[in-house]
Amino acid sequence: IKCDPATLRATFDRYQELAARGEDEDFGKPARFLHPIDGPKYAALRLHPCVTVSFGGLETDISARVLDNEGRPIPGLYAAGEVADTGMFGTEYPTCGTSIGGALFYGRIAGRMASGQSML
Ligand SMILES: Cc1cc2nc3c(=O)[nH]c(=O)nc-3n(C[C@H](O)[C@H](O)[C@H](O)COP(=O)(O)OP(=O)(O)OC[C@H]3O[C@@H](n4cnc5c(N)ncnc54)[C@H](O)[C@@H]3O)c2cc1C
Repeated sequence: IKCDPATLRATFDRYQELAARGEDEDFGKPARFLHPIDGPKYAALRLHPCVTVSFGGLETDISARVLDNEGRPIPGLYAAGEVADTGMFGTEYPTCGTSIGGALFYGRIAGRMASGQSML
């Protein structure tokens, strides 16, 4: 994987330490995913992570209206898709297709509402 062995060792040791403690104070990984690496043999592979979906953004209601901090709709402001994914998934992405589905579904509603039509 072309990384410095000493850095890999230090990263491994630190991870083991945090896993044993049950708290990832470096990256905030939830405790239930902190599994110690204690098997007999492992293989390493180089990954190129990318952001697939957002887990936050503007809060909207079922009519795609953007809500203010008190939960009241802001007149004339609608949102859908990635900018409005607060509350769609919680902390985990449930299954493939839900992002595009949500963007299309609420995008259509937002467009209809913004042009004065009924929601559906
Ligand atoms: C690698 C990858 C894989 C994915 N796989 C899946 C999958 O299998 N299933 C699934 O459901 N979802 C998947 N998603 C997520 C899904 O693609 C997105 O949730 C969805 O495309 C969001 O649509 P959107 O219209 O909200 O945002 P976007 O598709 O990001 O559209 C936003 C648009 O706004 C434009 N824009 C930005 N700033 C400005 C500006 N200032 N002025 C004008 N235009 C601007 C951008 O150019 C872009 O065209 C994947 C995402 C990625 C990155």
